[in-house]
Amino acid sequence: MSVFHDEIEIEDFEYDEDTETYYFPCPCGDKFAISKDDLESGEEVATCPSCSLIVRVIYDK
Ligand SMILES: [Zn+2]
Repeated sequence: MSVFHDEIEIEDFEYDEDTETYYFPCPCGDKFAISKDDLESGEEVATCPSCSLIVRVIYDK
């Protein structure tokens, strides 16, 4: 079972059009990231590339 660091609404993420990825600041100083494709395929876990934290994305299609 995964333990989520937090649950964040997609509106609170920052969208980068170049990479088509949503970002949210991670406590470690990096950013959680989840791509638009992942969201559209039902993925709801944003990961941080620099630490082991993950967050659940609250997303209504
Ligand atoms: Zn992190």
